[in-house]
Amino acid sequence: MEVRYRTVIEQSPLSIHVFSPDGTSLLANASWDELWNLEEGEEPEGYNIFDDEQLHATGLIPHIEEGVAGEAVTPRPLLYDPAETGRGGEPRWLQPFVYPVKDEGQRVREVTLIIEDVTERKRLEEELAYRANHDPLTGLPNRILFLERLGAALERAGRRDEAGNGAGNGAGNGADKVAVLFTDLDNFKYVNDSLGHRAGDELLIQVAGRLRGCSRSGDTVARLGGDEFVVLLEEVGSLADAVAAAEGLARELDAPFDLDGREVFATTSTGIVFGGPGEAGGSEAEGLLSSADTAMYRAKEGGKDRHAAYEVGMRARASERLGLEADLRRALEREEFVLRYQPEVDLRSGRTVGVEALVRWQHPERGLVPPSEFVPLAEETGLIVPIGRWVLGEACHKARALRGRLPGGVGGAGEVPPTIFVNLSARQFRHRGLVEEVTEALREAGLEPEALALEITESAVMGDPPEAVVTLRGLKALGVGLAVDDFGTGYSSMNYLKRFPVDHLKVDRSFVAGLGRSREDEAIVSGVVGLAHALGLGVIAEGVETESQLARLQEMGCETAQGYHFAEPLPGEALLEWLATDRERLRS
Ligand code: C2E
Ligand code: MG
Ligand code: MG
Repeated sequence: MEVRYRTVIEQSPLSIHVFSPDGTSLLANASWDELWNLEEGEEPEGYNIFDDEQLHATGLIPHIEEGVAGEAVTPRPLLYDPAETGRGGEPRWLQPFVYPVKDEGQRVREVTLIIEDVTERKRLEEELAYRANHDPLTGLPNRILFLERLGAALERAGRRDEAGNGAGNGAGNGADKVAVLFTDLDNFKYVNDSLGHRAGDELLIQVAGRLRGCSRSGDTVARLGGDEFVVLLEEVGSLADAVAAAEGLARELDAPFDLDGREVFATTSTGIVFGGPGEAGGSEAEGLLSSADTAMYRAKEGGKDRHAAYEVGMRARASERLGLEADLRRALEREEFVLRYQPEVDLRSGRTVGVEALVRWQHPERGLVPPSEFVPLAEETGLIVPIGRWVLGEACHKARALRGRLPGGVGGAGEVPPTIFVNLSARQFRHRGLVEEVTEALREAGLEPEALALEITESAVMGDPPEAVVTLRGLKALGVGLAVDDFGTGYSSMNYLKRFPVDHLKVDRSFVAGLGRSREDEAIVSGVVGLAHALGLGVIAEGVETESQLARLQEMGCETAQGYHFAEPLPGEALLEWLATDRERLRS
């Protein structure tokens, strides 16, 4: 071989070995020795390529034989693990090229074997493929991989179904369907906004860990983005099984998360869809996922922290919902909201000591729409913040007007005009500008803070107790009253009552409804009354409808009640009349 070529070969980063067709070595370069971890000159005298154990271990020999037979070959990269031949080093990916060199008579004179170490390139390719299929934050499969696995699972379910039908005996054990759980965190935005993105990321990582931890080995847990997670359940027998899995999942997330020393609770809303031949969700991956999404929205609408199963027709309602959202925005611009006022009566004196402002939507076609039909959506879209601002302003004006027009007037006849109670949704409570907004509403209406009380539900407060305490203290510092609404339906952690500066508990009307009928409800109501008094708080019973409920409440020592038994939520004018006749009613 010419000297200049020899130099090129010897210095090449590629591992090169030239040998004669019988396998006798003619030339090997330094890279070759390096590749096989050989000392220089370690190759034995009379080395024959066909006797090389390491080459045998790579699976290269058949390709070399092809080269000897006169074929140039470029096989796919081979994985070579040096451990197989007792040599040290990491497994490597090798890309071989085999070139026969022929003479004029087309006889193979020598064969050149070139090997490129492509381990790095392979690793990079794998890394890119992994990244394309996984969420970098949590390491979970992403939407692409999830849909791929869902597609494959549906195909398998379809085949089991056919096999089952063909045999005429139904499918094996019956557990042959596919279910998707679509889970969305209820308070993620809040964690992100108030505790920062790092805490948000940390929460997602911990949620991912718990979901993975509680899923069966064949199931796929994926993150679709944001705070949306999906779980693919295979070989599910019935919707009930899928529901049980969703419940297990929610339980797993029940315990508080530790975000840098802060305890944060995360509830979830989960949509469940059952798929496979003949099932509501159908047999198509994209469609199934979007049905699960729709069901998840239904769970959110239902009040969050719950699950909902997909039903045919839900999608139509989902598009209705979009229409409703647009309507709601317009309603805000056109000021189509109105307030009703429900009296809260002191059971000892019979006087109206409070008035709860309750919002309604005066819809141009649908008439008066109750809050249950638009507040959850307003809450979800954030529209509740401007709507709530309007409610607060309107309620403060009303309260101020009452003071001027009541027979006694402010301070007149020694009577204290009723406090106005305004509901705050969880979203409003977490809204950063809340304290300023309340200050502004009071100032603008010229109302003293003592005349206003804000109602907050337990769950709004429990999303992040430390943050809630800060907000509650801020409100308290203004001088406004604070009430826990629907008490008993949320966390009911007695623990927080000591720490939270609240003034009133409103016993949820579901318990009041059970008075005289359910011993449990009796025990709960009397327990709440006792608890409130022990902590120096006022109690207001909601939803009192009958004389006998009223009597029981009085026996229990409950001092304030509200409900249809006294009055429904009244328009402003009717409220004035009610208050004007308050004293007369009492006398009669
Ligand atoms: P809530 O704060 O617990 O209000 C009490 C609900 O019970 C009111 O329903 C009221 O009309 C109803 N109610 C009162 N007495 C009785 C009774 O004797 N029997 C029965 N069955 N029901 C009675 P409404 O007005 O439909 O409001 C429902 C919920 O909507 C409220 O529950 C509150 O959570 C929310 N809401 C109402 N107004 C607002 C608002 O301005 N802002 C926010 N964020 N939420 C509001
Ligand atoms: Mg209320
Ligand atoms: Mg309530």
